Amino acid sequence: MTTTAGGTVVTSSEAAARRRGLMLVLSSPSGAGKSTIARQLLDREKDSLELSVSVTTRTRRSSEIDGVHYHFISRERFEQMRDRGELLEWAEVHGNYYGTPRDPVEEALAGGRDVLFDIDIQGTFQLYEKMRPDVVSLFILPPSIAEMKSRLHRRAEDAEDVIKRRLQTAVGEMKHWQDYDYVIVNDDLQTAFGGALSILRAERLRRERSPAIGPFIEGMVEDLKRETGE
Ligand code: 5GP
Repeated sequence: MTTTAGGTVVTSSEAAARRRGLMLVLSSPSGAGKSTIARQLLDREKDSLELSVSVTTRTRRSSEIDGVHYHFISRERFEQMRDRGELLEWAEVHGNYYGTPRDPVEEALAGGRDVLFDIDIQGTFQLYEKMRPDVVSLFILPPSIAEMKSRLHRRAEDAEDVIKRRLQTAVGEMKHWQDYDYVIVNDDLQTAFGGALSILRAERLRRERSPAIGPFIEGMVEDLKRETGE
């Protein structure tokens, strides 16, 4: 559909396409199922949602691919990126550095694509400070501590002391649930995924994210006035 607003032609597809991307932040204590939900979201929304691949100084797990799950870099390189302002946010988690490279995120948002972040509360706060209108944050909780422990053990990728440290960190993390826009308890994976997808789709339709929708609607109103002779 095409309408004219103040002499400018605005089509409905343009109005939708000119939307700025949003930043969907997923946080959770380890073992809440966040990575699975993230993977499913990326799979379902292939054309419009991309993962922000963080840099980290942590050792790569056997299941992880460099450049896909993380960019695994040295501490020295990390500090260089941080000091040059190349990171949108960064934090030390479980004794390792993690950070979000700035450029890919800015490019995606400007191009109208959404970006998914798997970052912790410290990073989420930094994004609130810098990019709040673009950020939608979602906190995922396990249904119980027993289930969380069993998921960490099932994953069998981390040593016992690492699991213990992750559980200790979880105490501090869980206290922050009220700092998130949305909270999902991951009792059933498909239900939790459905909730996350609904949040993403609804947030995309927020009026503020589509600056072109105003002229489009004004154009329609003008067309309507002409039709009705008002
Ligand atoms: P993991 O070592 O299990 O992959 O991640 C440990 C924690 O670091 C998770 O809570 C994860 O969300 C967080 N994390 C991963 N990447 C980033 C990042 O770029 N920035 C911040 N602030 N946290 C991150």
